[in-house]
Amino acid sequence: MAKGFSGGVHPPEEKHTEKTSIEAMPLPKRVYIPFSQHTGKPARPLVEKGAEVKVGTKIGEADGFISSPVHSSISGKVVDIKRHPHPVVGESLCCIIESDNQDEWEQGVKVKQNYESLTREELLQIIKDAGIVGLGGAAFPTYVKLSPPKEKKIDTLIINGCECEPMLTADHRLILEYPMGIIEGARIFQRILDAPRLIFAVEDNKLDAAQILKKEGVEVVILKTKYPQGAEKQLIKAVLNREVPRGGLPMDVGCVVQNVGTAYAAFQAAKYRKPLIDRVVTVTGDGVKEPKNLLVRIGTRAIDVINHCGGYTNPPKKIIFGGPMMGIAQFSEEVPVIKGTSGIIVWTSSPTFQEGPCVRCASCIDVCPMGLMPTEIYKFVQNRNFQEAEKFGALDCIECGCCAFSCPAKIPLVHYIKFGKAEIRRLKQK
Ligand code: SF4
Ligand code: SF4
Repeated sequence: MAKGFSGGVHPPEEKHTEKTSIEAMPLPKRVYIPFSQHTGKPARPLVEKGAEVKVGTKIGEADGFISSPVHSSISGKVVDIKRHPHPVVGESLCCIIESDNQDEWEQGVKVKQNYESLTREELLQIIKDAGIVGLGGAAFPTYVKLSPPKEKKIDTLIINGCECEPMLTADHRLILEYPMGIIEGARIFQRILDAPRLIFAVEDNKLDAAQILKKEGVEVVILKTKYPQGAEKQLIKAVLNREVPRGGLPMDVGCVVQNVGTAYAAFQAAKYRKPLIDRVVTVTGDGVKEPKNLLVRIGTRAIDVINHCGGYTNPPKKIIFGGPMMGIAQFSEEVPVIKGTSGIIVWTSSPTFQEGPCVRCASCIDVCPMGLMPTEIYKFVQNRNFQEAEKFGALDCIECGCCAFSCPAKIPLVHYIKFGKAEIRRLKQK
């Protein structure tokens, strides 16, 4: 087993859906597809109200280098283009499509292609056109990550199957049920990058997944179950014992990291020209009657997904998109599933904590996987001393939440640090 990174925590795993097979959710009546679902500039709308679309019709074009196109996830009619609740940015421009219940696919999509003979450039273009972004949560456009500058030689591609967030099991199920598609996708990435080594990283609470991958003859590194094992820098340290420099990127140490779901989406794009129109989402929490791993069309509202899971057990107090550590609490059940939505968690209680004074126990320092001093940073932010907060590495914070999780004084350290980061960036821009 690999050595691991320093810091981190081990919250209760609560992976109650790990034995629940992926089920395709029936077509929603309407989808609400945001033009912004990725890191970078929102896509530029290509359709107008009244347009007829099929599954896979491009409805938004990438607008700039760091951007990504978006596609219709159902066939039907565009009934509106307007602002709608968004799970990450609060509200954004959405294409609202009403289903014709035909599920008719765009021409050329879902037809088997012989992708093995394509060049690296052609494969990269397919991934770009298919709107593939990182499905682990960050939603960074995949083709950008696969296009490092020439001087940055990539020797290792790591496929991230850690799924270190508690409660989520979508990636675990994907490995168990579609290992060959994931491996093929990984090999496509490996070819594009010309990377000699391909490693799959899996935590030791998913030994069945590791076993399946090993049986297919790929290199698998089993890592200790520890949060945030799946964060890029921590993963590279654990797998290869390489340190990504402060402010640097994995490519600075010869690495690219891609999530298992992203690899599977790339395989589907290459093999069937299928754009990213659906994804696997874990729906769980004590507020959901029948927790599931669901294949959901992008743009399906949270309420439709929850209703498909039998509805609420009791009135919900909190709905989270993503995992319990890094996920985002939602203000509306109208928010749609987007490309980066790995989970929907519904809780019927939401404990409130009284923030106490810092007792200088240093727990937050011990668990910070980035080697920061959260207690110092939050105090500088509280005093609006953003310059000192930056000196103490606020911008290196990966917002994993380990510090707040371990703080006995219940200080919402990540909230302070996130606010500090936003202020530092705003002041720099000024
Ligand atoms: S300071 Fe940032 S990186 Fe460190 S534990 Fe807290 S949230 Fe994680
Ligand atoms: S864990 Fe909380 S109480 Fe302990 S040093 Fe950090 S901020 Fe202070």
